[in-house]
Amino acid sequence: MATPLDTKTSLDSLHRLRDEIVHRNPAQPEFHQAVHEVLETLAPVLAARPEYAEPGLLERLAEPERQIIFRVPWQDDKGRVHVNRGYRVEFNSALGPYKGGLRFHPSVNLGIIKFLGFEQIFKNALTGQGIGGGKGGSDFDPRGRSDAEIMRFCQSFMTELQRHIGEHTDVPAGDIGVGTREIGYLFGQYRRITNRWEGILTGKGQGWGGSLVRPEATGYGNVLFAAAMLRERGEDLEGQTAVVSGSGNVAIYTIEKLAALGANAVTCSDSTGYVVDEKGIDLELLKQIKEVERGRVSDYAERRGASARFMPGGRVWEVPADVALPSATQNELNEDDAATLVRNGVKAVSEGANMPTTPEAVHLLQKAGVAFGPGKAANAGGVAVSALEMAQNASRTAWQAERVESELARIMNDIHTTCHETATRYGAPGDYVAGANIAGFERVADAMLAQGVI
Ligand code: NDP
Repeated sequence: MATPLDTKTSLDSLHRLRDEIVHRNPAQPEFHQAVHEVLETLAPVLAARPEYAEPGLLERLAEPERQIIFRVPWQDDKGRVHVNRGYRVEFNSALGPYKGGLRFHPSVNLGIIKFLGFEQIFKNALTGQGIGGGKGGSDFDPRGRSDAEIMRFCQSFMTELQRHIGEHTDVPAGDIGVGTREIGYLFGQYRRITNRWEGILTGKGQGWGGSLVRPEATGYGNVLFAAAMLRERGEDLEGQTAVVSGSGNVAIYTIEKLAALGANAVTCSDSTGYVVDEKGIDLELLKQIKEVERGRVSDYAERRGASARFMPGGRVWEVPADVALPSATQNELNEDDAATLVRNGVKAVSEGANMPTTPEAVHLLQKAGVAFGPGKAANAGGVAVSALEMAQNASRTAWQAERVESELARIMNDIHTTCHETATRYGAPGDYVAGANIAGFERVADAMLAQGVI
């Protein structure tokens, strides 16, 4: 029988554990940040349920079940050979096959993939579906590469990755730099090597196994989560002004859903700067530039006319808004940005990207009474619809868009309710960070306890 602990003792042991994890995983600051952010909120759970502290549960949770690193050689259009590094971190499969995206970006390293994989465990648990946590990718930079180069890279990447994935083992999806085009090339190579049509990737094209509403799911889901947080405070999105960062998959469908709910998104961005459009972002123009021409947000400002300005190197958070939806990358909203948002009267911040808000910024926003939706909960719509894609592939069926969209809405509402109720139960009402971490942790921890020390 486990001995009850008080919250202070639990917190001390969590800090010791965090220090050990930092020591065992040097030079992985993003992974340390993600672990710290979760551990910081778990003291009340460990105090209430000491059985979680005993069988090395947290130590096992912070250590991936498997980490795969491999060489990815490929030839560019001039015949030159390049060598990139590929990763797949299979973090935790207590709840189901590893599930999580592949990121192609020059900043990718093991620490970044581990932070994303660690977050994914709790996010996937929150959806209530049977999916474990994993993440992968490469330090390959797709920008400026031809279609043929992208294809050769994807084929080389999959030639190795195919040994490690499977519809019951590990089912990757897209992330930064990996969209429907890349998923197509990766899937084709898997099928060629194995001679099997299996749902081993999600985010596939519609017509060959992809789920309707998967491209929209992360952005739509985040807006639904923001709407639920506002509803809890007796408000809604109608007539609100929103700032959105990024201009990729998540940002585009965030802007689309905001418009559908009567809000007006006035910004988008990329790594060169941001656009502010007084009339609201023209979605058709943005989609044409980003999805068809693969251009930059500066092109948008040039073609949109007088209402839009491009601010090179600027930060979208300086634009006054009621709601902020960071949808680009990690640590893109810092303490100064949070102070600016608060000064300008922001009511809600909801994370479309993974860990876009620094810990200092999160504390500042929460202290100022801003409703803050952490990515683990707020951007879980993407992986949730990926799990629905797996279900459709397994049964060889394709659902109507209405069915997928209503499931997405139900799942996002359930996640909101779970986070809200869990935070209240553990004495932190309104703290969605604590609610998401604790609720995700409890589900994974219970499964791990039941399955023994493995
Ligand atoms: P995309 O590749 O479609 O778009 C990424 C956007 O973010 C681009 O506008 C890109 O600009 C910008 N960006 C990326 N890295 C940086 C950087 N280091 N500095 C500044 N801007 C940057 O990716 P997604 O929209 O799919 O992903 C965006 C975020 O959402 C990521 O954090 C991802 O992990 C998260 N997410 C995605 C899900 C999905 O379903 N796709 C699911 C859940 C979370 P540029 O082109 O200039 O690099």
